[in-house]
Amino acid sequence: MNGYGGSILRVDLGTGKITKEPTPADLARDFIGGRGFGLYFLFKEVPKGADPFGPENKLIVSPGPLSGLMIPGAGKCDFTTKSPLTGGYASASMGGHLTAEIRYAGLDSIILEGVSPKPVYLLIDDDKIELKDASELWGKGTIEVEKHFKDTLGEEYQVAVIGPGGENGVSFASINHDYGRQAGRGGVGTVMGAKRLKAIVVHGTKSIPVADVEAYRKAGLALYKACKDAEMLKDWTAYGTTIVVSWCDEVGALPTRNFSAGSFEGGKTLYGPVMRQEIVITDKGCFGCPSPCGKYSRMKRYDSHVEGPEYETIGMLGSNLGIADIQDVAQANLLCDDLGIDTISAGGVIAWAIECYEKGILTKKDADGLELKFGNTEAVFALIRKIAAREGFGALLAQGAKRAAQQIGQGSEKFAIHVKGMEQSAYATHNATAMLLAYMTCDVGAHHNRAWAITYDIQVGRDKVVPEKVARVIWLQNFRPMFDVLGACRLQWVELGIDRDLYVPALEAITGVHRTWEDLEKVGDRLWNLSRMFWARENEGFGREWDMPSPRFYEEPPKTGVTAGQITRFEDVQRLLDMYYEQRGWGSDGLPTQATLEKLGLASLVS
Ligand code: SF4
Repeated sequence: MNGYGGSILRVDLGTGKITKEPTPADLARDFIGGRGFGLYFLFKEVPKGADPFGPENKLIVSPGPLSGLMIPGAGKCDFTTKSPLTGGYASASMGGHLTAEIRYAGLDSIILEGVSPKPVYLLIDDDKIELKDASELWGKGTIEVEKHFKDTLGEEYQVAVIGPGGENGVSFASINHDYGRQAGRGGVGTVMGAKRLKAIVVHGTKSIPVADVEAYRKAGLALYKACKDAEMLKDWTAYGTTIVVSWCDEVGALPTRNFSAGSFEGGKTLYGPVMRQEIVITDKGCFGCPSPCGKYSRMKRYDSHVEGPEYETIGMLGSNLGIADIQDVAQANLLCDDLGIDTISAGGVIAWAIECYEKGILTKKDADGLELKFGNTEAVFALIRKIAAREGFGALLAQGAKRAAQQIGQGSEKFAIHVKGMEQSAYATHNATAMLLAYMTCDVGAHHNRAWAITYDIQVGRDKVVPEKVARVIWLQNFRPMFDVLGACRLQWVELGIDRDLYVPALEAITGVHRTWEDLEKVGDRLWNLSRMFWARENEGFGREWDMPSPRFYEEPPKTGVTAGQITRFEDVQRLLDMYYEQRGWGSDGLPTQATLEKLGLASLVS
């Protein structure tokens, strides 16, 4: 099969059995790869009601058909599982170089199932595949463990590793790679830890079959040329995602003190150019990337280094915690990375705890003697460590903001900023209705990368509640995640503005199958509906209520900043959902109708 290695690797960690199965041609046709393969295997193979921490849950690791080939940013790998944070669908994308080595080992997916009786790591060396003892590595940080494998096996081995957070069952643990890239969201690292799998280490030397080598060469060159010629290339490479910190601050989208405002009076010290000047040493990119957004930084005050921080981390561990010093934010970033927890969820749940403390709901005694004030960097560092260890007060926060608030009560549920149990990423949405809807309806919880609609809000009028905005969100949700299916980075399209049609001949040359973006969007629509059916299958009573955002965005207008006094009305939140369900072909309960499932060819799969 052109564009595919041809094998699915299945590893039963409980029995130690390792097998390979041929990649089914109809799976490649209908689900293409990456996130598509992950969702298919999750829906088909994980039984209803499976415990996310138990042996029946699976962790599926999937590159896409573009991964590992000379296509800009073709270094993306998808990790799919049943989320221990939300109880629903989790799919987290990771850049770097891992995915290329998985492809060179001839693999289209790795399905990890069962629970190992002892800590192990999976070593893939082309066709030599073994589970090896990892007892000596258990308890160590991600950076030390990655370095251990690079030192002992060689730089050509790529490593995906969990830290103590994943080992200890923190609900939002990450999988780390390349000393600074993460599959961060939804607790994919938690599931890896529950399986007692410390690391996946992989090196391959096989080639990927390509349908038309000359056409592939031409299409790849056209994509690289478009990136090289892009006007935004210089600024994007200089600042990466931090380029939007100042913009978000100016338009009132920068999360500030647990999303109570969208502008941060200390914000300027976190802006991209300040960070570049103060801490950035060099740029760092993923496999095949012509526009490296990774920034490698040195924090002199701490005598330490980190890849980052990028925008989301600056928002969630900086302004959202009232921290204005970029070195402090970068150090918090490093702690989270090394301990293996998601910076976004960590920032969200810590901000909730600080607000509880400042409101008198939690006391110093509750917080293990820490003074939880916005801007108290030392308390934030201590909390990150406590969360990763699930120690004392950290054990409460390690469950995520939704569950922690349910446990503490006293009205704190209202300012736990999440959707479906996932902490909202770094866009304040008091008066940005398309972005708010994107969070409300996102297939994994309140995550931004499926539909980054905030610019559309600013463009057409932030408080407008019109069908065009809803249609835009749906289009983005169907289209953008397809990059995670193909195994390539979306940022060359988003940030450099290259023509997405340039990918069409590349995909055809590689796979031998002609697919337009309209064809790909139909696949995206099918995946969106299938993930919705997974949520419904796994959660009794799932529906409309689950799509509601934090009341903060419809009850509490910010008191400061450019969005001061602005809010989305509750009736408008409901109208957004009504329009969304109608346009998606869902009932007013928020579930796909039978007719929609049939139209998308999903009826037999979900029955
Ligand atoms: Fe990786 Fe950034 Fe390049 Fe995308 S733009 S491939 S995330 S370095």
